[in-house]
Amino acid sequence: MAKKYVSVENLKFLLNEVFNIQEVLDTPYYAETDGEAVNMILDAATDLADRYLFPHYVEIDRTDHTFEDGKVTIHPKIQEFIKASGEAGFIGASFSYEHGGQQLPEMVTAGAGAIMSAANNGVLMFTGLTAGSAHLILSYGAEELKEKYATKMLAGQWQGTMALTEPQAGSSLSDIVSSATPTDEGHYKLKGQKIFISAGDYEGAENVVHLMLARIDGAPLGTKGISLFVVPKYREENGALVDNDVTTAGVYHKMGQKSTPAVHYIAGDNDNCHGWLVGEPNKGLSYMFQMMNEARLGVGLMGAAIASAAYYASLEYANERPQGRKISDHNAKDKPQTMIINHPDVKRMLLFQKAVVEGSFSLIMECARYADLIKTTDDEAAKKRYNTLLDLLTPVAKTFPAEYGIRSVSEGMQCLGGFGYTTDFPLETYYRDIRITSIYEGTTGIQSLDLLGRKVMGTGGKSLQLLGEEIKALAEEASTYDDLKKYVGILQEKMQELQKVTQHLGAMAMQGKHELFLADATLYMEFFSLIVIGWQWLKQATVAKKALVTGNPEGDQLKFYESKIHTMRYFYSYELPKTLGLAARLTDKDEVITVEVEKELIV
Ligand SMILES: Cc1cc2nc3c(=O)[nH]c(=O)nc-3n(C[C@H](O)[C@H](O)[C@H](O)COP(=O)(O)OP(=O)(O)OC[C@H]3O[C@@H](n4cnc5c(N)ncnc54)[C@H](O)[C@@H]3O)c2cc1C
Repeated sequence: MAKKYVSVENLKFLLNEVFNIQEVLDTPYYAETDGEAVNMILDAATDLADRYLFPHYVEIDRTDHTFEDGKVTIHPKIQEFIKASGEAGFIGASFSYEHGGQQLPEMVTAGAGAIMSAANNGVLMFTGLTAGSAHLILSYGAEELKEKYATKMLAGQWQGTMALTEPQAGSSLSDIVSSATPTDEGHYKLKGQKIFISAGDYEGAENVVHLMLARIDGAPLGTKGISLFVVPKYREENGALVDNDVTTAGVYHKMGQKSTPAVHYIAGDNDNCHGWLVGEPNKGLSYMFQMMNEARLGVGLMGAAIASAAYYASLEYANERPQGRKISDHNAKDKPQTMIINHPDVKRMLLFQKAVVEGSFSLIMECARYADLIKTTDDEAAKKRYNTLLDLLTPVAKTFPAEYGIRSVSEGMQCLGGFGYTTDFPLETYYRDIRITSIYEGTTGIQSLDLLGRKVMGTGGKSLQLLGEEIKALAEEASTYDDLKKYVGILQEKMQELQKVTQHLGAMAMQGKHELFLADATLYMEFFSLIVIGWQWLKQATVAKKALVTGNPEGDQLKFYESKIHTMRYFYSYELPKTLGLAARLTDKDEVITVEVEKELIV
């Protein structure tokens, strides 16, 4: 295994210098957390990662979970981590004191999550799902549910899940058919099956609490008839836990994230599955959006974290592997071989990875900052502004780290040549693990429809206007440094390109050509993401430039800041120009994929 999987120095740079966490810590809501506490939390996350996660990454991958005699077993080290994480207060650390959390800023929990996820991504799924599902109960559930379930979940005793997907309802949740029949004893009787439920069952979990979407008998069709229920594997009766008629039918054998069983379960086969309604009937999907939005940022963070671990593994290899000679020395056969890091193409692959990893972490931190500002500001207009920006950027923060993260890990593997493809190095594991990030929590196709259809067009241009204002403010600051002016100009040009493309697509929507308008939403997502990450890179470079000009840094610190500016130059020179090709297609009138043609022509 490589020695390093994440740069805590980079996370601290983002927290302290780029996103000024102090501004958030100075608010009354976060009065009990200071800069020293933030460092202690990052240290505690590193300690957990180094003890329980990173050393077991490969071994857990090779062990896979099993399903025999109706029982799912997972690697024992996973439960050690869950327990330690609960005891350290990491599950739900950002929740309010009232909800049993530590009231930590989202930026801090994102930093801690980045460290642990880079160390062993699949294992973090267990605690992440428990936190998200407990948060749903705490936000919308009755007092009795909070007391009975949330406390044990936050302590790491009971596992939580999000139970949405059914065989016929994956991307399209409006087609959910699981049913809930009211009884006069306060609970509902649940019937139905759910597939792909992560951490949905395993031996050693005292209980598994499914946050399950189902329709109350007679509910309207579509998303307006979906309700949310707490459906435990074991329910309490007379102080004891008894079977609640939730049967595991099987687990899926996946290409990656072998740590985490994805379970197919059947509820109510014996007409004896009790579920308790969360909040009001038929509002389940709107509640579930809280968990889905949190999970989307969590998946983005995971993508960036896996790409980070792959980047450091390939960087270490590139520094140690001698192969061939530098192009300038190609005739000097007597010269010793050079390390592959000296070949321009290997440098390009490493810079690509660094640009993706640190650009993604920066965007996720930006989103976490908006979430913190929403909690801490009393100014309603400001709250609305941050909400709109967070809504706009959430699908991007899920998708860019996933899609570009996959490419990034692939380049990491490429740096190792043949060894990258073998199980001697962890690159193949990272490659298998990261592939899921563009599929679950809404596929890239679905996130892209959300971005273009809802978040951009659905706000009537307001969200883009707010993004433009954020970029304008950065441009003003960056322009005070002569050597950044060129990049400010490029970013401004890209914003004009974005306006033009968006107007072109908007015109199609106005003409009622909805299929045409949304057909290339995924290309729009990539186009939009590159500009957003360009914004994040200029932001980091501006802070680095300021530190170079005013702080007289030396040694490693000097190199750190210079490397930020160099990576920004890479992104602007190698990645951002890709928007041109995407814009050409997005404004092309040739209807290649929407035109009605015989199927044989497109296969
Ligand atoms: C390992 C794993 C873990 C998972 N964990 C959970 C979990 O814990 N809880 C849970 O509820 N679910 C979970 N899922 C389910 C996951 O969220 C779904 O697989 C995902 O949402 C896609 O649904 P689907 O598989 O039915 O694919 P489909 O919805 O059939 O999609 C197939 C393809 O068609 C595209 N497509 C579908 N509809 C449209 C459309 N309207 N417009 C354009 N393109 C479209 C998709 O983008 C995709 O490319 C998990 C899945 C996996 C593989």
